[in-house]
Formats: sequence, C-alpha cells, structure tokens
Amino acid sequence: MTRFIFVTGGVVSSLGKGLASAALGALLQARGFTVRLRKLDPYLNVDPGTMNPYQHGEVYVTDDGAETDLDLGHYERFTGVPARKSDNVTTGRIYSTVIAKERRGDYLGGTVQVIPHVTDAIKEFVTADTQGADFVLCEIGGTVGDIESLPFLEAIRQLGNELGRDRALYIHLTLIPFIRSAGELKTKPTQHSVKELRSIGIQPDILLCRCDQEIPRGERAKIALFCNVGEDRVIPALDVRSIYEVPLSYHAQGLDVQVLKTFGLGIDGEPDLGRWHDIVERAGGPEGEVSVAVIGKYTGLPDAYKSLSEALDHGGLANNVRVNMDWIDSETFEAGDTVQALENVNGILVPGGFGERGAEGKVAAVAFARQRKVPYFGICFGMQMAVIEAARNLADLPGASSTEFGPCQDPVVGLMSEWMHDGTIERRQVGGDLGGTMRLGAYGATLTPGTRLQGIYRRGDITERHRHRYEVNVNYKERLERAGLRFSAMSPDGTLPEAIELDDHPWFVGVQFHPELKSKPFDPHPLFASFIEAAVRQSRLV
Ligand code: GLN
Repeated sequence: MTRFIFVTGGVVSSLGKGLASAALGALLQARGFTVRLRKLDPYLNVDPGTMNPYQHGEVYVTDDGAETDLDLGHYERFTGVPARKSDNVTTGRIYSTVIAKERRGDYLGGTVQVIPHVTDAIKEFVTADTQGADFVLCEIGGTVGDIESLPFLEAIRQLGNELGRDRALYIHLTLIPFIRSAGELKTKPTQHSVKELRSIGIQPDILLCRCDQEIPRGERAKIALFCNVGEDRVIPALDVRSIYEVPLSYHAQGLDVQVLKTFGLGIDGEPDLGRWHDIVERAGGPEGEVSVAVIGKYTGLPDAYKSLSEALDHGGLANNVRVNMDWIDSETFEAGDTVQALENVNGILVPGGFGERGAEGKVAAVAFARQRKVPYFGICFGMQMAVIEAARNLADLPGASSTEFGPCQDPVVGLMSEWMHDGTIERRQVGGDLGGTMRLGAYGATLTPGTRLQGIYRRGDITERHRHRYEVNVNYKERLERAGLRFSAMSPDGTLPEAIELDDHPWFVGVQFHPELKSKPFDPHPLFASFIEAAVRQSRLV
C-alpha cells in the first residue's frame, strides 16, 4: 500500500521545501522503506524548459527526457531514486491536458470547471505511476495563500478524504523569525499560515518550523495550541552547516518517528544513518582546497547552476578537498581581462549555456585553459566553445563558430535536423517551437578506446543526460583530429560527437551531455572526481 505525504510551505518562499522533502525521503529510506518524490508547480508554463534561469533556477533533466524543477535534483541526489517525467507537473500542463480533453469532446458537453475537472487531473497525476513505493512524498510549490496554488491544495485536500487518514499526511513548513529588537521568536506568522491552510480544509499533521535558533518548549506548546497540532509534532527545522546534516537533524528532532506514528505504523528501532554521519564528517573536515572558476552567464544566482555546484562538491568529497567556486560572468572576458581573473585558479569550467551573449568570453577562457595548461572541463555549451576555439586556433579555421549565433563560414557546431534514437529517426525543425525541441534525456555514447575519457569511466559504453539543440558537426571531425582534438565519445551510430579531449594537456575534456545531473554525494560522478583530482594536482604546482 502506497502512502502519501503532502508537503506545503507557508509564511515566505525559499524555506527549502525541496530539501526538506528530500531529507524526509532519505530518512524513510534509512528505515527500509521505498520512496518516490514528486512536485506540483503552480506556474502556467507547461514546464520550466523555456524559463530564464534567473526566474526559475536550473532546469533539471530526467532520464526520460523531462525538463523539470530543480527540486527533483535534490530528491535524486538524496535518495538515489531516478526522477521521471511523472514526478513533476505544472498548472500549465494540467490545464493543457484538461483543455485538450475538452476539445476532443471527452467531457460530453459538460461545463468544464476547476472543481472537479482540474482537481481530478491533479489527483490523477499525484496517484499515477507509484508502483512499488511505500511512500510518495509530494511537494506543492509556492506558498500557502497564493491564488495560484489553490487548485493543488484543493486536490490534496480531496485526496486526504479519498485515501483515508492512514494513507495521507500533511506536513507544513513554516518560519519562526527572531525579532531582534524584541529579543523574541515570533510564532504569529506560523499561526496565520496554518489558519489559511485550515480555512481551505487542510489541517496539517506535522509542522516543520524553520528557525535559526533552538525553539524553546514554551513556544512549541504555543504553536501546538494555536495550530491544533500535537506538541511533539511541532518539529524544529534548525539551520545547519551542510545540507547533508538535514536528515540527521530531522531525525534528532523526531520527524521520522512522528510521520510513522501519524500513519499508525510501528516504530522498528533506529534508522540506519551511517552514511549520512560519514558524509557530514567528510564534508566538515577537508584536507585541502582547490579553486575552480565557472565561466557562465547566470552567475548571479547560485540556483541557476545547482546540480553543477553540487557535483563539484561531490568531486571535492571524492578527493577530500573543499572546492571553492569562483562564479565569473563570461562577458567580463570580452573586455580583455581574462588573464587576471583566471591566473590563480586550479580548474576552469564552462557549463551549459544558450545564446551568443558572452560566448566569445567563454572561447577566450577555453584558450587560456588550453594554452596555460589549466584543467578544463567543458559541459555541453562548454564543449561546443572548446571545439570552436580548437577550430580557430589549432585547425586554422578563423571563421569557425556555431550556427546558434547565426550563419558562419565554418559551422563546426550546427543544428542536426534528424538523428537516431532507440532505432527510430527523430527530427527537429529549424524555426520550430522552442519548447521541447531539444535532444533531451538519456542517450547512449560509445567511448573511444585509449582516451582519457575511457580511463575515467573504465567502460566502453555510457548513458548520460542531454539538453541541447546544437551538435558538434561531424563533418569537421577529421580536420579537427588532425589538429590535435580527439573525439573521445560518439553516439552509437557514429554521427554525433559526444566528447572531445586534448592529449597534450594535464586535463582538457569536453562533453556534450550533463554529467552533473547524475552525480550523487554517495556516488560522485567519475568526471567530476577526476576533474577535481586534476585541480588538486594543479594546485600543487602553483
Ligand atoms: N546552446 C547549446 C545547444 O543548444 C548548448 C546547450 C547547453 O549547454 N545545454 O546546443
């Protein structure tokens, strides 16, 4: 029997509902249960794929090719359960399903309404594809009180009745601010948020209270009284030094026990949290540090590269070092001060990106890394920029560029109009819709024997996640190879370059896919482990 845990948030946004859900998922796993985690997003975009990262943060891509909310990355990293298309839905997608049905005449001439048609579609989504999961944790985006999230809240309210109290549980995450001038913790915002939730028919079972200090017993009792929740179900969610401490802290405060009790389940000893203790210890006591410059476009918002910064941290964990990340806007290099900013870093990384703005700055950063023999890791756009740099400066093709930026003399990166996937031809149209027209999700690649890449993966075939429209142009492969650029992985049919590297360099690797999406704290991605290892070696030289 699958049980459902609904996680809502109140008072303010950015309280970390995603991490809270992921941590609870990990705790339940540590007690031997199987979990799935999913998220309902209240905005009208059909998916976050076309949203500016400054609006939404990173777009997380699943194996089955869905462009999803970055919280799915937290879920996957904390639980190891691969996220799927069926784990993230938006109001936009729900409405497009309902409207498509209406056009088909599926409602038999009836009036189509938010209740029951939209709420039914939401409930269908929440309860579908849950086989094998003891618990489904379902996070509702936004903050209680927003107009946008009302249909989702109404749907989970109905589900509570339909599933019954032993199969549905509501957790509400709130904030207990400390007001300095009064010298007091304030419970009123939490009271109001719960009042709002109760006014739409949801009585939370457990309150998770974010606070930057211990919440005294008296305050907990007060919250319990006003919010109609048992005192031991008012759980402090205190600030911690590293995200890996969250499951441990929740357990110490009794969250997992209260969840099981609320469901009427027995408590069978203690959860096995050994690996979480171990990782907190390792993250807390690195033996050294390295600095990595990340040359991107959305460097002002850490969430825009969430999986990347996590994967770099994992690479640090694998090498027992702290990775200091220097987020640099590539446009600054177009003013010509490349050298100064990169002089002292131990590694340079150009991550995924879109559009012409800042691209020349990235090419300049590649040139610096290549010439000065600083470890270089190019991811997706970062590989494409490395190919352009090599074409111009090694293969004597000064007019080399990507057709993403307009027509050019030597399109070493260009649009492929069709490619093979699982035995069928997939096509995309020039000038077609921007949403959902990319090579998305897991694709296989064959590694070239004897390359650095093959040494890192220690295997011949890999599967990695993709999210891009353009490809390195295979017609330039020979010419670039003669100039010294090795093609270290190709698509299984040999038409799409998947990775490149340089021999005469301490570590210079570009990959067309996004390895950061699959890296986990307990299983750092081999490319990140190897890149940071190279950065450690480089740090001993400078
Ligand atoms: N803009 C490039 C493309 O569409 C790279 C995309 C990316 O880095 N994710 O191919």
